[in-house]
Amino acid sequence: MSHHTDRQALGKLYVVATPIGNMGDITRRAIETLENVDWIAAEDTRHTKSLLGALGINQKLMSLHEHNELQRTEQLLDKLKTGEQGALVSDAGTPLINDPGYHLVKRLREEGIEVIPIPGPSAVITALCAAGLPTDRFTYEGFLPAKPNKRLLALEPLANEVRTMVFYESPHRLMACLDSMQTVFGCERELVVARELTKKFEQFVSGTVQEVVAYFTENSDKVRGEFVLMLAGAEVKSAESGEATLLEQDKMIEVMLKQNLPVKQISEMIAELTGEKKKPIYQRVLELK
Ligand code: SAM
Repeated sequence: MSHHTDRQALGKLYVVATPIGNMGDITRRAIETLENVDWIAAEDTRHTKSLLGALGINQKLMSLHEHNELQRTEQLLDKLKTGEQGALVSDAGTPLINDPGYHLVKRLREEGIEVIPIPGPSAVITALCAAGLPTDRFTYEGFLPAKPNKRLLALEPLANEVRTMVFYESPHRLMACLDSMQTVFGCERELVVARELTKKFEQFVSGTVQEVVAYFTENSDKVRGEFVLMLAGAEVKSAESGEATLLEQDKMIEVMLKQNLPVKQISEMIAELTGEKKKPIYQRVLELK
């Protein structure tokens, strides 16, 4: 556990989310924080300058991007140790979510500097909450690799993923990405593409992978802007499908037999795992032994 004896004298870093397209989405806490800190570390200072201009805020800006994050982190750490208060912002949405800042936050936590989140928009949550796909469990995959082979390699382990999968994609790779998805998940998997979230031309396109591909092929003028892709998870094997369950049960029994576990113990364990009666399981273990 990290703790500091004189935390009071140390500065704090506020991680501040900013709009993903609609200026109305800046929060009151974000504005107050950006006004009151001593400096703001920004992914692109020009970009943040125009955001601050629109908010009427005049602040000291420093860049923190993927090429200078390591070195910048040490400088910011020194400033925070003298008691200064800082903010971290990215170009849009929540910093660290496919944006710089991970190294900085990790290092500050190691050093016992307080890091305070100021929540706001993020494209992943914005897209999910209106897509109509299951949201009880999901996996965020960020951007897929640019090269087709690497993209397929990244997608293959997800072929049987049962959770909703969320991806970010740029317009010039959208069609290639959909093509790879069709290869790995088939034509019939349900897909929702959210485009230009919170902006004037916001759009949700949903259907099977094949239908979504057809839509964007016919409407190539819509292949522009920013995209979040959400893919339905694979169907969970239903418990009523007795055949699948029995096959899985056999597999479990075989694994346990290989471990040389006693028949009685295996039956008890399988009964507990599957909720089935012990006697027929006992018989099956004897058959497979
Ligand atoms: N930090 C950001 C967040 O919290 O969502 C993400 C930054 S990432 C570099 C940029 C990608 O996020 C875009 O290529 C797009 O996939 C997605 N994105 C950002 N804003 C979006 C929007 N308004 N509509 C759809 N997707 C968006």
